[in-house]
Amino acid sequence: MTRRDAFPALMAAGVGALAAVCASPTSNGEPPAEPSAKAPRIEKRDLANPNWGYPKPKDPRRIPPTILMVVHIFGVKSTAAMPVGIGPDSGTHREYQSVARPAWTRNSAHDYIARNGEVIEVLDPATQTAWNNGKLDRPDRNIPTIDAIASQSGYNANEYCHREVECTGYPGSHPLTDEQLETVAWFVALDSLATKLEINRGTVTTHADFDSVNRPSCAFPPAERERKLGKIIDRAKAIRAEMLKPEK
Ligand SMILES: [Zn+2]
Repeated sequence: MTRRDAFPALMAAGVGALAAVCASPTSNGEPPAEPSAKAPRIEKRDLANPNWGYPKPKDPRRIPPTILMVVHIFGVKSTAAMPVGIGPDSGTHREYQSVARPAWTRNSAHDYIARNGEVIEVLDPATQTAWNNGKLDRPDRNIPTIDAIASQSGYNANEYCHREVECTGYPGSHPLTDEQLETVAWFVALDSLATKLEINRGTVTTHADFDSVNRPSCAFPPAERERKLGKIIDRAKAIRAEMLKPEK
């Protein structure tokens, strides 16, 4: 499938199931209880550069992923402190403008997540591989999926990753917000259904798992890494259960 028709179908599956949960009145006619998960606002935008794909830029994904999620923090203090959201004045919009320039030749993520949980999406994880992980440098080989990647040389590490996200923030002063963690968990739940990958510490990862030398605090300080990823994993499992509830 092409980029343009693959992702809406995927989203429709998740959003539709959620909408049914949100809209179902209770049997006694009372308004439904507050839903435990709803889709974040996602705005799709284009990149004016070819900064995705392997082995050549713009090549479509060539192997199935083993990892659902790689969480990153954008790490620029000035944009982290700008107005929140994805509007024209926001830090996340400024970050998008930066990475979307034709002249940009560095990294790319599938999604740029604002501090209120809203999303600018630029790549389709079903067909497009992002560039965000950089090189492996003392990766965490206690994680089986990471160890498998480090044990081969035929493919770039990014190719094993379904979705990579950049969260607007700065280590220390602007750590990831609860709203950003909720959006990440929602993506993990949705992608777990699409890819059939289980939700666990092997499939929910962060940049430091790939590069503990240069990116030890992406996306979380080392002391908080496991607790935060555990929170995402637990929440994603709960959201997936909501998505799988039959329509009434
Ligand atoms: Zn990173």
